[in-house]
Amino acid sequence: MKKHDSAHHSMIRALIERIKTLPVPGEGVTFMEVCGTHTMEIARAGLKKMLPPHIRLTSGPGCPVCVTPISYVDKAIALCREKNCVVTTFGDMFRVPGTASCLERERARGADIRIVYSPIESARVARDNPGKRVVFLSVGFETTTPGIAATILHAGDAEIRNLFFLCANKTVPHAMDALLAGGKAALDGFLCPGHVSAITGSLPYRAIAARHNVPCVVAGFEPIDVVRAIAMLLVQTAEGRHDVEIEYDRVVRPEGNRKARDIAERVFEPADAEWRGIGTIPGSGLRLRGSFACVDAEQVFDLSHVVSREPRGCRCGEILAGAILPPACRLFGKKCTPEHPVGACMVSSEGTCAAYYTYEQ
Ligand code: SF4
Repeated sequence: MKKHDSAHHSMIRALIERIKTLPVPGEGVTFMEVCGTHTMEIARAGLKKMLPPHIRLTSGPGCPVCVTPISYVDKAIALCREKNCVVTTFGDMFRVPGTASCLERERARGADIRIVYSPIESARVARDNPGKRVVFLSVGFETTTPGIAATILHAGDAEIRNLFFLCANKTVPHAMDALLAGGKAALDGFLCPGHVSAITGSLPYRAIAARHNVPCVVAGFEPIDVVRAIAMLLVQTAEGRHDVEIEYDRVVRPEGNRKARDIAERVFEPADAEWRGIGTIPGSGLRLRGSFACVDAEQVFDLSHVVSREPRGCRCGEILAGAILPPACRLFGKKCTPEHPVGACMVSSEGTCAAYYTYEQ
């Protein structure tokens, strides 16, 4: 073990010992880590096992691929079957099962599907292939959206006319609010996502904390960050407060990144959005503004023939709502594994089922 790892480990142990001394009401508390990266780090570091049993962590809808409805995947598959069409996507979407296929299988059958690491690469693909129509699968939260918006603006400036966007961008605070408003999860606090909050700031969580009487702490991604944030939530609980605090203050400011939000707002506007497992949440999505209709794949291509069906037995929806843990799904670890995923939560590197399968079995 490296020296700094060992020092970190000692700090985590010391914090856990302190956590054990903090008073907790009744049956204990359940905190939700909203972000998929937190889910993976918590599982990787074995933090749940280190915490006393009356402090429970549950995963939330913070993996953008996992919350993308299956109908979106089916539309992406329909697009890659179009003549002269190239689909570009982040890698996480590649293996997500649709109703009858997935992008990986479609590529093996000859479809032109390219994995990109940044949306701007899609503009290059479009520029280099003027005879083809290129569709970027625009999936992500507040962290990803400004880069996509910048790509759309760049394509317009560069007069790239063969680049389109299939949009399913979403905003995280709306989902947190909906989970509590719908009574889908009984929660005593939120570990708010670090990356998303770098853009949104911490202010959007204030209304959630006040409306539902839950403390919120924006947490970084090191195990020590997560444990420190849990301790901050417990202190708030003990003091009967429900404030919004920032543990990840080396990156996140209360006001967030105004410039990034401005770019996103030039291109996208709020819309209702469907979240896998949660349903439609008013105002939780982003659609292209009317002046960008010419790059909206839903308007340019006819996708009306696409019919979707959730995989039988998959309980991703309940997992994303924090209602059950992966082993409660009878397919977990049997018919559904990272090698042969049935649902999106087993595919994504941030998926709850994948994290549980890899680290917590
Ligand atoms: S284990 Fe597989 S089938 Fe079950 S909920 Fe998770 S992703 Fe869906």
